[in-house]
Amino acid sequence: MEVVFLGTGASQGTPILGCDCEVCRSANPKDKRLRSSVLLHCEDMDLLIDCGPDFRYQMIREGASNVDAILFTHGHVDHTGGLDDIRPLNYLTKKPMEIYAEQRVIDALHKQFFYIFDNSTYPGVPKVNMHTINADAEFHIGDIAVIPIRAYHGQLPILGFRIGDFAYITDAKVVPESEIVKLKDVKTLVVNALQYDTHPMHFSFDEAVDFAKRIGAKQTYFTHIGHRISHDSVLPKLPPNIYLAYDGLHLFI
Ligand SMILES: [Zn+2]
Ligand SMILES: [Zn+2]
Ligand SMILES: [Zn+2]
Repeated sequence: MEVVFLGTGASQGTPILGCDCEVCRSANPKDKRLRSSVLLHCEDMDLLIDCGPDFRYQMIREGASNVDAILFTHGHVDHTGGLDDIRPLNYLTKKPMEIYAEQRVIDALHKQFFYIFDNSTYPGVPKVNMHTINADAEFHIGDIAVIPIRAYHGQLPILGFRIGDFAYITDAKVVPESEIVKLKDVKTLVVNALQYDTHPMHFSFDEAVDFAKRIGAKQTYFTHIGHRISHDSVLPKLPPNIYLAYDGLHLFI
């Protein structure tokens, strides 16, 4: 599998519009973070986890033009805002986009993108084929088995996903004990780490490090990183086998 980090930023990206902090002014490309999303080249399928507002530019930057299915972790707009930009993919494939999400996320998409779902006969709207998934049921996309992992984003129930020995969890504050078993023997873990200070909705760095150590993957990459985190100054302070992801990073696993 190849994992392409399309974006590794928090909800406002880095730099934040109008912020003049040191990281937002940094010239280091690894401090430029679009909204978090990964593209997985997996067997003969291209799976996208989350489709944020930077989706169009991220795909163009990577020279990627195929997505077979989109999996949504939750309905916040930094993870859904690019859905309108699947239209050229509909055009290329002449097929609707296959979308996998929990019912509450599908309900959010109906509000955010009402025109996709209002049975309008206008031909220019994105075409989608919705699949409702449940936290406790493995599902398949083609031959690929996907295990949903329940996490809590503050009070909000969200999903992470495990595919083979890769797992992706973003926007988590709590991963319940009952879900930890689903992460057994994961070799590559991606998990959110927002900032040093504690936050009510997201793992802080210390919480993300504790979680990573607990899972004990061969390699863990942090994503959904806030604007106070300078890549080159923070990376050397992380424990062994824990790294900061950055936009454009490709992992071959
Ligand atoms: Zn987010
Ligand atoms: Zn800033
Ligand atoms: Zn969120």
